[in-house]
Amino acid sequence: MEPEGWSTVECYVNGFSSSLPEDVQYRALREIAGFEKAKMFRPGYAIEYDFFPPTQLTSTLETKPVRNLWLAGQINGTTGYEEAACQGLMAGINAHQRAHDKPAFTLRRDEAYIGVLIDDLINKGTDEPYRMFTSRAEHRILLRQDNADLRLTPLGHALGLASDERLARVRQKEADTLAVLDVLQGFGVEPAAINGFLAEHHSAEIHEKTRALNIVRRPAIELPALAAALPALAEKLAAFSIEAQEQAIIQTKYETYLQKEQQQAQRMRELENFVIQGRLNYGAMPALSHEAREKLLKIQPETLGQASRISGVSPADVSVLMVYLGR
Ligand SMILES: Cc1cc2nc3c(=O)[nH]c(=O)nc-3n(C[C@H](O)[C@H](O)[C@H](O)COP(=O)(O)OP(=O)(O)OC[C@H]3O[C@@H](n4cnc5c(N)ncnc54)[C@H](O)[C@@H]3O)c2cc1C
Repeated sequence: MEPEGWSTVECYVNGFSSSLPEDVQYRALREIAGFEKAKMFRPGYAIEYDFFPPTQLTSTLETKPVRNLWLAGQINGTTGYEEAACQGLMAGINAHQRAHDKPAFTLRRDEAYIGVLIDDLINKGTDEPYRMFTSRAEHRILLRQDNADLRLTPLGHALGLASDERLARVRQKEADTLAVLDVLQGFGVEPAAINGFLAEHHSAEIHEKTRALNIVRRPAIELPALAAALPALAEKLAAFSIEAQEQAIIQTKYETYLQKEQQQAQRMRELENFVIQGRLNYGAMPALSHEAREKLLKIQPETLGQASRISGVSPADVSVLMVYLGR
């Protein structure tokens, strides 16, 4: 139940959305335990709309049948403001690139949610209005709010969409993050100076001089508290922005997870580098499963990575394609 405001008894019934007739909605609501006497201010409703199956699009959102026609937004089977906005951005960028004889611009699944959304739409299509849930992104550890600027500003700048000043700010944050890591790596902490603090934070005491970096790796220890307990460390960190300090800590605490995720993304990227469009005659590959052949013929994936994500194309089918590609 989501309260609609401080000064109203109105609540939004999350997850109860329905397009059934008003009297049916009212009776259904009162079936819920605790809602026997609920009053309904307004019924739920649904909006019906048509869309073009997005499997007809390339990764730039250009239609395959009609060159120089890009589709973006609800017409591609999505719903939502952000879903529509990000597609408009990508279609617009690519129309501009085409008009100026510049290369196409796409984002990978491990680079941005936009990459996940477009890749899902063009490969899987959608049977119901598509929303960009974080659970759809397999590399979501890499797709964080705290690193959105690091991931995307250089790309935006290269396209002419982000100013020099904005890029400079990001580069400064990157440099400061490395500098903060250097400070933490180089700062030795004596047991006598820190064991009281560690005990207070229910963290094991140290018995020999330890790098500050290894202390902030501990789950219970946050950098601002540690710096407050160690004035000499606080002094060294004072020159760096809170954002750079946060970034350094995120990279430290989650280092192993991030590395693992990056390795996985790298393996996927290798498949992504195999461009296959127009190179393979799927009809003449008896080793492919019947379903894979049908889907590949229909979707005509641009890369081996894209082929591997089409539902119905198994890892065995991908191996067959690799053989035909000479690998
Ligand atoms: C009542 C309601 C509440 C919503 N609430 C939310 C919400 O809380 N959060 C959220 O994320 N999303 C919400 N949505 C969904 C969201 O508004 C849409 O998914 C999104 O606006 C779609 O954007 P779009 O640009 O693809 O399409 P639209 O915004 O529909 O734009 C299409 C445009 O094309 C124009 N057009 C159509 N035909 C022609 C033609 N022949 N020639 C020229 N122009 C034409 C239309 O006039 C319109 O301006 C809501 C939608 C509705 C209806």
